[in-house]
Amino acid sequence: MTTLTFDSLNPATGEVVGTHPRQGPDAVREAVGRAAEAAAWWGGLGHPARRQRLLDYKAVLTRHLRELSRLVHEETGKPVGDATLEIVLAITHLDWAARHARKVLGRRRVGTGMVGLNLAATLEYLPLGVVGVIGPWNYPVFTPMGSIAYALAAGNAVVFKPSELTPGIGVRLAELFAESVPEQPVFQAVTGLGETGAALAADPRIGKVAFTGSTATAKRVMAACAENLTPIVAECGGKDAFIVDADADLARAADACLWGAMSNAGQTCVGVERVYVVDAVYESFMRELSGRVTKVRAGEDYGPITMPGQVDIIKRHIDDATKSGKIVTGGPGSVRAPYVEPVIVEDVPEDSPAVREETFGPTITVRRTRDAQEALELANASAYGLGGTVFSRNTRRAMELARRMRTGMTAINSVISFAGVPALPFGGVGDSGFGRIHGADGLREFARPKAISRQR
Ligand code: NAD
Repeated sequence: MTTLTFDSLNPATGEVVGTHPRQGPDAVREAVGRAAEAAAWWGGLGHPARRQRLLDYKAVLTRHLRELSRLVHEETGKPVGDATLEIVLAITHLDWAARHARKVLGRRRVGTGMVGLNLAATLEYLPLGVVGVIGPWNYPVFTPMGSIAYALAAGNAVVFKPSELTPGIGVRLAELFAESVPEQPVFQAVTGLGETGAALAADPRIGKVAFTGSTATAKRVMAACAENLTPIVAECGGKDAFIVDADADLARAADACLWGAMSNAGQTCVGVERVYVVDAVYESFMRELSGRVTKVRAGEDYGPITMPGQVDIIKRHIDDATKSGKIVTGGPGSVRAPYVEPVIVEDVPEDSPAVREETFGPTITVRRTRDAQEALELANASAYGLGGTVFSRNTRRAMELARRMRTGMTAINSVISFAGVPALPFGGVGDSGFGRIHGADGLREFARPKAISRQR
C-alpha cells in the first residue's frame, strides 16, 4: 500500500524542506495506543526521575540548537536569530516545568478544619494519561513546548500533531526526546493535515487536548472532543491593543510598538495590531513611530509570510484600512508575496475588519483617544482578549489599566514580555480561548487533583 505524503516548503524560496506521511486515523490510533502504555510507565516513574530525564532532554535540545534553528528558519522563513530565540525560550519553559512539577503537583497535607473529627487529608495532582497536543506554525517550537513540557513534567505521555507547514521540526523534537528517554515512546509526533489533528481529538483515550491555532479550528476540535467529554485547553488568536498614556516614555513606547507589531512579520498571537494613543501625546508619538518604521525592512528585519493563504487576508485588511483611514506608512503596494512591508494606518473605523479581525501581518491601526479611559474601552471592545500593552511612567495608573484590560496577560512599559516568564500563566479570554499553559497553572492544566481524606 502506498503511503500518502505531503511536503513542507520553505516559504521564502518554495523549495521542499521535507516530505512527511499524511497519517490517518489508523496511524493516529496506533500512536495513541503506544502512548497509553508509555504513560503508565512514565507516570509511575515519580517526579525526581522525570525531572532528571527532562533536564537531560533540555541538554539534548541545547546541543542541537543550531540544527533546530536552521530547520525552523527553513520551514517558517523567519531569520535564524529569531528561530534561535524561540527555541531558547522553549528550553527555559522546559527547565522550569521540570524543576517545579514536584512542588506544584506533589502530595501535600491539607488542614481539614473539622471540629471533633480526627480526620487527615492529602491532595496531589496525578497525570491524565495521554495528552494530545495540536500546534500552529508561527512559533513551531516555543508554542507547542508550552504545552508539551508541562504535560510531560506532570507525568503524561504526549502525542503531538505539528502544523502541516512545520512538520519537520515537530518530528525532530520528538526524535530528540528519545535520546533522553529511550525506554518507551513517551513523546511521539504524528504528521498530516487537519484530518490528523481531528483523529487525535476524536480518540477516546486522550486525557486532554492542548490546542493552539485559530479560533475557528478550536471550535471544530471542541466539537470532536465533546463526543468523549475530552477536556481541552484552547490557545487561539488575538488582536492585541497597545495603549500609550500621556506620561509614557514615547521613544521606548515606539520601539516596543514596532517590535511587537513587526517581528515575525506580525505572525504572533500576542503581536500588536491596534494602537490607542491619548490625545496629549498623539503627534509626538506618531513622529517617534514614523521616524523608526522607515528603517524596518521585510526580508531583513523579518521574514516572509509563512502561510501563503494568509497574504490574502493581510491584503484585504490593508485595502480596507487604507480605504477608510489615513496612511502613515505603506499601503496596498506593500504586499509583495511572500513579503509584506510594514503598514501603519490612522483613523480606521473601529467596526472595520482591519480593527476587528486578526490580521497576522506587519500592519497596525492607530487611533487617537480622549484619554486612557477611552483607550481602555476601545481596547476591551474586541472579541479577542489574549495579551496587551500599557505604556505609562505612572506605575499605579499603569497597573490599574493593566488589571482592567480584558486579557489574560498585559505588559507594562514593554511588549509580549509575559510570554517568556515561565512562572506566568499564558492564555486568553473570549475568542482567544480558555485554560492556561505555562507556570503552576500550566502544570495543573495537565493533571487531575486527587483528594484523599483519612479517619485516624
Ligand atoms: P490553524 O487553526 O489553521 O491550525 C492549527 C492546527 O490545527 C494545525 O496543526 C492544523 O493542522 C490543525 N487542525 C486543522 N483542522 C483541524 C481539525 N479539524 N481538528 C484538529 N486539528 C485541526 O492555525 P494556524 O494557522 O496553524 O495558526 C495560526 C493561529 O494560531 C492564529 O490564529 C494565532 O493567533 C494562533 N496562535 C495562538 C497562540 C496562543 O498561544 N494563543 C500561539 C500561536 C498561534
